[in-house]
Amino acid sequence: MKRQHMLNVVWIAILYLIGANQPADCFAYEPNAEAQNASTAGQAVVRRPASASERAIAETAEGYSVSGPMDGNRFSTSANSVWLGTRKSGDVWQVTFSEPTVIGSILQINSDDPHRMANAARNYSWQISDDGNEWTNLPDTIVRNEKRLFRIHRLKETVTTKHIRLVVNLAYGQAPALREVEFYPSTASIVPFDEWFVAVSSDEDPENLAIGLPFVALARLCDGWTNTQAQTLWHGDFDPDFVSIEPRPMCAFFSGSYLEWCQCNREPWRGVQEVLLSRSLPMWGSCGGAQVFAILEETGVDQPWDCPRCRNPDKPLLPIYSHIGHTGKSPCGDYSKCIGERGKFQMKIEHADPIVQDLPDVFEIVESHIGQINHVPNGWHRIITKGPGAHTVNQCLRTDDCPIYAAQFHMEIYESTMETSTLIMSNFLRIAHEWNAVPHDGPPVID
Ligand SMILES: [Zn+2]
Repeated sequence: MKRQHMLNVVWIAILYLIGANQPADCFAYEPNAEAQNASTAGQAVVRRPASASERAIAETAEGYSVSGPMDGNRFSTSANSVWLGTRKSGDVWQVTFSEPTVIGSILQINSDDPHRMANAARNYSWQISDDGNEWTNLPDTIVRNEKRLFRIHRLKETVTTKHIRLVVNLAYGQAPALREVEFYPSTASIVPFDEWFVAVSSDEDPENLAIGLPFVALARLCDGWTNTQAQTLWHGDFDPDFVSIEPRPMCAFFSGSYLEWCQCNREPWRGVQEVLLSRSLPMWGSCGGAQVFAILEETGVDQPWDCPRCRNPDKPLLPIYSHIGHTGKSPCGDYSKCIGERGKFQMKIEHADPIVQDLPDVFEIVESHIGQINHVPNGWHRIITKGPGAHTVNQCLRTDDCPIYAAQFHMEIYESTMETSTLIMSNFLRIAHEWNAVPHDGPPVID
């Protein structure tokens, strides 16, 4: 990717400045770094290890590295590039500079897993000290229930300090892990960060995050996105706060699900509903992920949900959700007497849209569902409908005013539809990239 290349050039320039052969524990302090850098592409220089007296200090799990978070390798999960602490509560990772250093922003890459919060800081703050004994909290860095793998802390005002430390009051997993920490001199420093996305689990089980990984695998098959970063997340943790923290995700994918909507807790979907209705992020929903977009759009989390099995036909609670058909009676969530679409089916393009660029008018893709979106919600339109032999009419819908797509089919089950799946994914990533390239911070279009 072009941006990755730019980043590499900046890193090489920084390494050249500080001398790349110095020990990894060392820390480069360039007093005039900000001034020097103002003339080089507007990038702020990261404080990096450069001398034995300026080093990271921490108790470290065996085999892990106290200086790993400052090795310039942001995303590596290998032990020699990661600091893993020794306790669930009370771990500290400290950096001592040789002289007072100005800090305005901190990039923090959490967790020893590339995609989820495994061993990671959960409740924490950064603290500073002049003498290494008396410590002061940086209030702008206090985080409770951290959900983000990648976070940029922006201080309201810069601080000048000799010592800075991360104090972890509570960790996910056994102890906190840091993959990278970068200190920047300005509260507004440009922190280069390649576009990344969230793969959200629509499943009821908060632990089943792996259901989002096929989106990551498919995206990385697309030209220009081979190394893209992604975080998997449970839908109950997805909300406007998660989306607005820097570095902001480029888009979000929502997986399918297993339970009937009458069996699901509605409240965990509230944050998704808020982001959806704010039209503030490109999103893609597959199967259950598509159905829930339509449900949140039309009915929302504050009204009860039913399914066609428990529905009072005179008073349907979720008129936007139906089944393909039934072969007999069965309880909610028992799909043995439901008509399903499983395997490859033909789709037909109905409405021009960049998402179907370069696709033939009729194409094959994988389906696996018994439920369906019954009608097109207000403010949405249909892009793709069923082709010959398929049952479900509403195959891909899109909001009128933001690239938010609800697709009944599974592009992410791509083994037998590689060409079509990578084409749709490439189109979506390009659309999301272009949408993010211009500001969209106006008022929400829908109340
Ligand atoms: Zn039901």
